Amino acid sequence: MEEVRPALARAMEEVREIVGQLPDESLMREQLWRKEYFPQVERAIKPFNDQLAGTLVQKMSENGPQFEAEVFKQLEAINALPPGPALAKPIGSMPAYTQMALQSKIVKGTRLESLFGIGRPEMAQFIKSNMRVIDNKVKQGMLAGVETKQIANSIARVITSPDGRRILKLQKGTVAHEVNAWASAIARSGIQDMNRQVSEQVWDANPVGSDLAYEWVSALDSRTCPTCGPLDAKTRPNRSDFPTWPIHFNCRCSVVLIDPDKKEDVRTGIEVARPGPKGGRPPGFEKGKKGVYASKVRINGKDYYRRTQQIKATPGQRRVTYGDYLAQSDRRTQAAFYGGGNAGSVRADNFRKWVKAGKTPSEAMQKTIINMPGTTGKLKTVNPERTSFRPTDKLKWPKGGSGPSPSPGGGPKPPGPKPKPIAPAPKPVAPAPAPKPTPKPVSTPKPVPTPKPTPKPTPKPAPKPTPKPAPKPAPKPAPTPKPKAEPALKPLPKNKPVSFKDWDSSKPGMNTEYPTLADVYKRQGAQQGKPVLVKSVKDLKGMKGLIKDADGNNVVIYRGVTGPAQKQQLLGRGPDGAKHFAGKGMFGNGTYGASNSRWKLTTKQRIRMDWEDYKTSATAAQGTARLYSNKTWFKAGSTGGAAFKPLSDAQARSRVTAFGIRKDAKVKTFTHLTDPDEAYNDWQKWIRDEWEAAKKLGHFDNAGDALAARGWDGYEVPLPDGDVLDQNYWVILNRRAMVAVDGDPF
Ligand SMILES: [Zn+2]
Repeated sequence: MEEVRPALARAMEEVREIVGQLPDESLMREQLWRKEYFPQVERAIKPFNDQLAGTLVQKMSENGPQFEAEVFKQLEAINALPPGPALAKPIGSMPAYTQMALQSKIVKGTRLESLFGIGRPEMAQFIKSNMRVIDNKVKQGMLAGVETKQIANSIARVITSPDGRRILKLQKGTVAHEVNAWASAIARSGIQDMNRQVSEQVWDANPVGSDLAYEWVSALDSRTCPTCGPLDAKTRPNRSDFPTWPIHFNCRCSVVLIDPDKKEDVRTGIEVARPGPKGGRPPGFEKGKKGVYASKVRINGKDYYRRTQQIKATPGQRRVTYGDYLAQSDRRTQAAFYGGGNAGSVRADNFRKWVKAGKTPSEAMQKTIINMPGTTGKLKTVNPERTSFRPTDKLKWPKGGSGPSPSPGGGPKPPGPKPKPIAPAPKPVAPAPAPKPTPKPVSTPKPVPTPKPTPKPTPKPAPKPTPKPAPKPAPKPAPTPKPKAEPALKPLPKNKPVSFKDWDSSKPGMNTEYPTLADVYKRQGAQQGKPVLVKSVKDLKGMKGLIKDADGNNVVIYRGVTGPAQKQQLLGRGPDGAKHFAGKGMFGNGTYGASNSRWKLTTKQRIRMDWEDYKTSATAAQGTARLYSNKTWFKAGSTGGAAFKPLSDAQARSRVTAFGIRKDAKVKTFTHLTDPDEAYNDWQKWIRDEWEAAKKLGHFDNAGDALAARGWDGYEVPLPDGDVLDQNYWVILNRRAMVAVDGDPF
C-alpha cells in the first residue's frame, strides 16, 4: 500500500539509526544490542504499525460497497434475486463496513485487532514479528563479524532525492523489503477477507434457492498454491462446506454462488515464460500486443513474463478447472507452479506423464501433491500447512505407456539421462546482506507460493535424449563411505572439574580478576589432550565412534587458522603442540569451528556472504574456515565491505583443518533437534544452567572458561538463524575431543 510507504520509511530509517549506534567491537556488541538498542526498536515500529492498521481498516471499509455490488451482480446473473432491485437487501452504511473490517480474521486464527494490537495492552503481533526479523538480521551480522555500517545497510537503504525527500529503497535482502512484503500480504488478505464477509452477509440477507451451489474460485496462474489450485471449481451445496477464505496469507481465492447448470467452458489462464537470452522478452512478444509477455511477474524469486491463454474445460465438466489450466499450460508454467527449479521440472514431468497415461488433470495432480483436497471428501478442514508438493524422490511414475518408471520401485537414481530441467537454476550466490527469514507471524500462515524443498539429486524418469547438466545439487556430506585405516580410539577417561574457589587476584599467578581459559587448562594439566589424527576426510567420514548428524553422517567441522604453523599446532605438533591455544568468542571462549547446518533449508535460505572465500568453497562451513584463515580479511576489519584478497586453494589447504568429534568426549550437542530456533533456545537454556552450576567452582567471566572448568570438552552452538548462515558453530575446550584430518581438509 503506497499510502503507508512514508511511515514505513520513517520506521526503517529510525531502526537503521538505532542499529547504527552499535560499536564495531565485537565482544560488547551482542550485549549492547540485547540490553540497550533492541528494546528501542518497538518504539520505532509502532507508528508504522498504527498507520498500517488504520489505513487497512479504511481501505477494507471502502472496498465494501464495491464487493457488495459484485455479489449482487453475480446473483442477478444467475437469476437468484427476486425481480426488482428494490427488494435486494444491501448492507448499507460505512460504519457497518468498518465494523466488519475491525472484526476481520485476516486469515484463520489471526484477528486484525490482535495483529495490530488495536485497543489492546499487549504488543501487537505485527510489531513482534517485525522485531524478530530485525533481531535476526542484526545478530547474523554480528555473528559474521560484519561492521555496524553494513548491518545498518541491511536494515534499509534510504536515499535522498534531488528535491530533498528521503526515499526508501526496498532492496531485496533488507529488512525493509521484508517488512513491506509482510505488510502487503496482510493488506491483500485483509481486503480479500472483506470480500468474504460482504459476500456472506449478502447471501445471508438474500436467501437463495436450493438449486444453486457454492463454488471455489482460484486464480488461473502459476502463483496459485498446491492447496488452492486443487480446490478450484469444487462446488458444494453449503458455503460452510468450504474452509474460510482467504485460506492463507496472499490467498487470492474466493467462493461464489453459481447455477450448477450453467456451463463455463472457456476461461483465461496465465502462462509464464522466463526472460529471453539477454534478459529481454521471450519470443512471441510484440510491442502493443496485449496479453503476450507484456507484463512481468515474480514467482519463487524469479522473474517471468506472462501471456494470457484460453483454457478449455475437460469434456463433461461444468467449467474449466485449475487442473485443466495446468494440463493445457506449457512445461515452464507447470514447473513454476510445481515450485520451480529442478524439483519443479521433475514434478511437472510427472504430472504430464500421468495425464498422458490417461489420468484426468485432477488425478494427475493428486500424484504430485501430498494431502491434496479430494474430489468428494470434506473440504471444511483443508489445511494449507498440511498440503505440499511431493518430494521428487517420492513420486510414483506410470508404468509402460508414455514412459518407463525411473527404476524398479521408483528407487534411487537410475544411471539414465536426466530430463531437461526447465529454467535451469544457476544458483547465484546472493549478495550480502544475507536474506531474511520469512517473518514468522504468530499463526504461521503459509506463504504463497509454497517454499519448495532444496532441489536434490532426484531420481529421474524421462529418458528424454537431451541430457543437459542438471543443476548442481546442494552440497551434502557423502553417505558414510567405507572405513579405512581406522585408528583405534582409546576410551577417554572422565574429566574432573577443577575448582577456582581459591582465586584471589592479589596473589601471584592469579593476577586477573577472573580465571582465564589458560588458567583452567593449567589446572586441568594432563586432562588436556591432543587430537587423534586420520589421513583424509574420507577416513573421517567412515570412522566409528564419532558424533553424527541427523542424517547419520559423522559431523565434519572446519576450522581455519592464519598460517600453516598454527594448523600444525592445532594438530598437536611443534614445540607448543601440547598446548591448547583457545580464542575469545561471543558464545564463550574456546576454539571455534563450523559445521554445515543440518536444518532443512530452502535453496533461497542457503545463502552465504558474497565474498570470494565463500564462493570458492563447496559449503558454507568451509567458507567460514577459509575466511578465518585469511589474514587480509582480518586486516580489512573483518568486514565484507573493504577489499581483501581471497586465499589460494593451496593456502586454504595448509590453514584449514577438518575434524570430527568423539562420541565419548564430554561434548554437548543439539544434533537431535531439527528446528534452528528450538535448538538455539535449548542451547541458551543449557548454557545458563551450566553457568549457574559452575558458580560452585568459582567465578568466571564467560561461559567457555566456566564450562571447561566443569570438565566439558566442548559444545555445539546451533546458530539461531540457521536459515541464513547455513552452518553451526562448535566451541572446542579440549582437543582430546577431536579426530582431525592430517592432510587435505576439503
Ligand atoms: Zn487461495
